[in-house]
Amino acid sequence: MLIVKKFGGTSVANAERILNVANRLVESYKEGNKIVVVLSAQGDTTDDLIKKANEINSNASKREMDMLLSTGEQQSVALMAMAIQKLGYPAVSLNAFQCDIYSNSTYGNARIKSISTERISEELDKNNIVIITGFQGINRGGNVTTLGRGGSDTSAVALAAILNADLCEIYTDVDGVYTSDPRIVKKARKLSEISYDEMLELASLGAKVLHNRSVELAKKYNVNLVVRSSLTREEGTIVKEESTVEKMLVNGVAVDKDISRIALVGLKDQPGIAFNVFSLLAKNKISVDIILQSIGREDKKDISFTVSTADLNPALEVIEKNKNRFNYEKLLHDDKVAKVSIVGAGMATNSGVASTMFEALYDENINIKMISTSEIKISVLVTEKDAERAANAIHEKFRLDEIK
Ligand code: ADP
Ligand code: ASP
Ligand code: MG
Repeated sequence: MLIVKKFGGTSVANAERILNVANRLVESYKEGNKIVVVLSAQGDTTDDLIKKANEINSNASKREMDMLLSTGEQQSVALMAMAIQKLGYPAVSLNAFQCDIYSNSTYGNARIKSISTERISEELDKNNIVIITGFQGINRGGNVTTLGRGGSDTSAVALAAILNADLCEIYTDVDGVYTSDPRIVKKARKLSEISYDEMLELASLGAKVLHNRSVELAKKYNVNLVVRSSLTREEGTIVKEESTVEKMLVNGVAVDKDISRIALVGLKDQPGIAFNVFSLLAKNKISVDIILQSIGREDKKDISFTVSTADLNPALEVIEKNKNRFNYEKLLHDDKVAKVSIVGAGMATNSGVASTMFEALYDENINIKMISTSEIKISVLVTEKDAERAANAIHEKFRLDEIK
């Protein structure tokens, strides 16, 4: 079998963990498998590098940020190759340049465009365990890019797709995908399977166990994807086309604390205002999530919306620069908010799901600031300090801890 195995930061955090992973890799290699390994930076390396950059220039260019952040992954792959070689087995580490992982030029959030399999196949043919940097890409101009926080998952799935691997295993610090973040909801239950669509929603709504783009790619190329623990031997969660085992009304609860709310108060109530505001943000590559527009009063109205917290300051800046165009009375913002969402394919055909969710929040006396719904998810915006209580209450209300 050809298997792509990805290990996250916690799984390679120190020498002992690296040796533990090396042993597991060798075990699988000895079973006759061809192995491609994708690694993240060790532990908090990426965060530490960001801090280092901020000490020098808090407004550093995105190109240089990527040049810096991509080094974390390069350390991991070299160390892993050394660990495997020490165990007496052949291994080689490669970075994005060495296996031509081409991406677009959106520094900090680049998308993979193509990967050449030549070098990787060559190394596999030499019987090497091939260890590749996650998170890294290169653009056509020959610069290093990174794929966005959590992007090593996407590197792994992209490699599995292009190499036509039999399996892509994502090893992490939990033993699978749960009905909610097990660190927040103690009663969260491990799912044996989840569909690509449901996983994609969960990932997009803040469940960082898988990078959302990795799930998109897995669906597109039908990659056999498993999430499992690097520390235990538990069976993981299979992410696949249709989940037949558990077809539930609500499959999971996701919490996203990395969002902020912006409100433009006292805008003129006339056609084109929303278009102008949101096209300006789009032009500046700022994605907007939940949007709320108030009912007009005396030819005035308010528009509020959420952005990721990383985009808060850039969004405020461009809006302020265009103050004259929009003619608002006040520009407000709040970064102490969180989005709590429920996801489930069964929701589309069932009414009453939203009211059950709102009842759970009412029982806990938690105020809802904004609501957004789609066929398979409902999200509410709450005060950040209420987020964990909200997630637990909703999880309890839908009895997600019980196997249906
Ligand atoms: P890695 O470094 O291995 O990529 P991450 O920290 O990116 O690991 O992702 C794993 C974390 O995702 C877990 O520690 C857990 O707290 C969080 N998480 C959020 N939602 C879920 C969920 N539904 N199921 C499992 N883990 C989740
Ligand atoms: N090291 C990167 C990060 O911390 C990528 C990853 O871990 O997937 O976001
Ligand atoms: Mg991750």
